[in-house]
Formats: sequence, C-alpha cells, structure tokens
Amino acid sequence: MALLHWEADSLGINLSDDQLTKFETYYARLVAWNKRCNLTSVTDYEAIQTRHFLDSLSIILADGDLNHKTIIDVGAGAGFPGLPLKIVFPDMCLTLLEATGKKTEFLSHLCDELDLKSVTVINDRAENVAHNAGHREKYDLSVSRAVASLDTLCELCLPFCRTGGNFIAMKRQADLELTSADQAMSVLGGQLRQRIAVKSNALPDGSELLVIEKTKSTPSGFPRRNGIPGKRPL
Ligand code: SAM
Repeated sequence: MALLHWEADSLGINLSDDQLTKFETYYARLVAWNKRCNLTSVTDYEAIQTRHFLDSLSIILADGDLNHKTIIDVGAGAGFPGLPLKIVFPDMCLTLLEATGKKTEFLSHLCDELDLKSVTVINDRAENVAHNAGHREKYDLSVSRAVASLDTLCELCLPFCRTGGNFIAMKRQADLELTSADQAMSVLGGQLRQRIAVKSNALPDGSELLVIEKTKSTPSGFPRRNGIPGKRPL
C-alpha cells in the first residue's frame, strides 16, 4: 500500500501500519470476491489504492475528524467511500446502505474480518430506509459516490441528515448538476455550503466535494417511493 500511503500523506492523512494492513486485506478480499460477484471494474492493485481508497479518503478535506460522528453511506457498493473512512476513524459510527444483497454480504464479511466496530450494514433501498424513524434525520453526515445525479441524490441522502448536518456528494465537474439540483435542495431542506476541489495527481481532474448543509427538516413525503427519485427528479 505504498502508493496509498504516499498519496494520502499529500492530502494530509498519515496512515498507520495497522491501517495500511487493513487496506491490504480490503484489497485482497475485494479482488477475491469480485471473481464471484460484480463489485468493481477496477481491479489493478495501484488503481484500487487511488481510485477507490484515496478517493474515498478525500472526504477528509471537508471534515477532518469523523470520530464520534454518525455517518451513512448511501449506495455504498463495495464500501466506497464509507469503509476506507472507517478504517481511518475507528470511533465513527457508520451505516452502509446498499440495495444489492451480494454487495452487503461482502461488506458484512469484510467488516467482521477487519474487526470494525459500530458498523451497520443494511440491504435495502434509501427510499425505504429514509422513512424509518431509527434512520430519518439521525445522521451528522450522509455521503455518496457514483450512485445518481445530484437532484436524485439530494432526495435519497438529505432525509438522513439531522438539521445542521451535511450531505457530501462526491462529483466531477458538477456545474450542470448543481444547477439542476437547485429545486431539489430547496424542497428537501438543503443549501450548498462549499465546493471543495480535490487536487491530487493520482485522482481525475475536476474531482470535487459538494457540501450541502441540512438547514431545515425534510418534508415527510420524501423520498418518494422506490425508483421515483431517479425517474422523476425534483
Ligand atoms: N458508492 C460505491 C462506489 O463509489 O464504488 C458504489 C457505486 S455503484 C455504481 C452504485 C451503487 O448504488 C450500486 O451498488 C447500487 O446497488 C446502489 N444503489 C443505487 N440506488 C440505490 C438506492 N436507491 N438505495 C440503495 N442503494 C442504491
């Protein structure tokens, strides 16, 4: 994990030997499970270190200490960005929400093997879970990467944030998406607070973090039923 070690350092993240060993195990299990179920198209050792692990850790540019915070990763897939963050911040309380059963099986197995505490893996859709009182407006932070366009994502992610919390969307060249998401943000109780450029030679140009603050409660009718946020964005 020398590349990850080096590149994380340039983002201001100093990874310990124990954390690097966990990332090594993550890589090995990801590649092994990927032969049986489709977890990622990125399988090269170096590319996984940058395009999955380092990219996930870039969230730290928006919030430098996630310990003791409650975070939900919506559409976590094989764990990105939530699990790399959990490896670095062992005291954060993480929920990994993912609609595909094979992927949640992988996530549960990996969390056990890495002995990560305070991680909840949920196999369901955001449209359902966001109406559950145990999850609605309960999180300091919701995060999401590569799941949907920003207007749709606001409907899937903002309902999980407490008022005063943030939704961080990992995007690339987001100008157009931001314009289209104006209406969704205002209906759902969000306001764009920051656009943080992620500058690293190891990551694609134009990567950025959109920090959307939850300024007021989301009306109870949102998210709408399964599939509608994507088919008919606000
Ligand atoms: N976030 C991961 C990453 O960046 O590698 C996975 C990205 S993958 C392209 C999108 C994932 O979002 C898929 O695993 C899919 O099952 C999940 N997903 C899509 N819509 C969802 C929803 N409404 N609720 C929960 N998961 C969803």
